Amino acid sequence: MSSASIAVNSPSSSNHFIKDGVTSVNVNRLCSFSFESGLFGSKIPTKKLSLSVNGTRPTRPERISYSGLEPVKASSRSFDVVIVGAGVIGLTIARQFLTGSDLSVAVVDKAVPCSGATGAGQGYIWMVHKNPASETWELTKRSHQLWKMLAETIRDQGMDPLQVLGWKKTGSLLVGRTPEDSVMLRKRVSQLSEAGVRAEYLSTDELHSKEPAIYVGTDGGAAFAPDDCQLDAHQAVSYIEKVNRSFAPEGRYAEFYHEPVTGLVRSTSSGEFEAVQTSNNTLYGKAIVVAAGCWSRSLMHDLFKGSHIQLDALVMPRKGHLLVFENFNPLQLNHGSMEVGYVDYQNATFPLGLDDQSQTLSVSMTATIDMMGNLVLGKF
Ligand SMILES: Cc1cc2nc3c(=O)[nH]c(=O)nc-3n(C[C@H](O)[C@H](O)[C@H](O)COP(=O)(O)OP(=O)(O)OC[C@H]3O[C@@H](n4cnc5c(N)ncnc54)[C@H](O)[C@@H]3O)c2cc1C
Repeated sequence: MSSASIAVNSPSSSNHFIKDGVTSVNVNRLCSFSFESGLFGSKIPTKKLSLSVNGTRPTRPERISYSGLEPVKASSRSFDVVIVGAGVIGLTIARQFLTGSDLSVAVVDKAVPCSGATGAGQGYIWMVHKNPASETWELTKRSHQLWKMLAETIRDQGMDPLQVLGWKKTGSLLVGRTPEDSVMLRKRVSQLSEAGVRAEYLSTDELHSKEPAIYVGTDGGAAFAPDDCQLDAHQAVSYIEKVNRSFAPEGRYAEFYHEPVTGLVRSTSSGEFEAVQTSNNTLYGKAIVVAAGCWSRSLMHDLFKGSHIQLDALVMPRKGHLLVFENFNPLQLNHGSMEVGYVDYQNATFPLGLDDQSQTLSVSMTATIDMMGNLVLGKF
């Protein structure tokens, strides 16, 4: 799970998801932003977070003093950072600011955490389907490293990452059926190995002995990444939220849930965007971060309508569905698995405005066993 965006704005849906990777937005007219630090926990070397704003704006109305978690009723609040979207991305960004700096942070969401793609996520934190030659590879590696470090930090604090995050090292299999798939999988294994990720190619027999429930025919095979892990998205979010909320009593954190962002407030003197308008509040921020997942694109377009600001590289929505089989004993898996077609799906690019992905995409399956022992099938 790795996609964030720094700027302002967000959009919607529960069974749509965002391509893993960097979400970037043209922020020229917003704030310049230096953000150098790990996302999680004390084990990550933290550099000072810094934040600078072009121009000035009037003195902030007031410093928030908020220790409860009930919705704030006042109509205007001021923070160093306002984050739009309380999915796993928005909340982890909030966590980073809270643990890695002394900045105050507000998180605003039109609903609640896990109401977006995060709540539907299958929770695999995998390298096996990632391409070391892609431009998002460094981000992928960093994201995986940070999740692993978070799990270690939790373990070091005397807690069990399985209980806290649903964290399990399952290993992952990228499986294919055809000779062409096998060629691609061998290449992927060698690329991953060269990039320092443990990976091996499994012939159909080797795959069958490792994962008896999966049969790919005589021409198939699999790329196996033994160090890949998975988590439970709800558990992980609830832990991150708990950490964030521990900063509320000192006035550094507040949540504005069930408050859709409806607009941006622009300074009449400097022209800078300086606040987001929600249904109930005006939230001022020196920096405004949009982490609204698949809603980011449409929200940004709505909010910047009529301005001359160019928006590019925005998040594209993609569909995914999960089917959960509770207490499903006939089929057991030792590892997470993914069909090789998912890689093409992930690399696909869509013309702007193309909403019906069914015209261009095949269906790929993923399969995992969740922390309750349920079989979870993903379709993308
Ligand atoms: C079925 C499925 C399975 C998946 N499995 C995996 C997996 O195994 N591994 C993996 O890495 N990724 C997986 N993903 C993708 C992953 O879930 C997403 O990439 C990730 O959750 C995105 O998080 P987010 O915080 O960016 O977005 P979201 O979780 O969608 O959060 C965005 C938030 O913005 C809020 N918002 C929207 N508009 C507004 C507005 N106007 N005002 C205020 N708030 C607003 C929404 O309410 C929402 O809470 C899966 C996705 C799906 C759908």
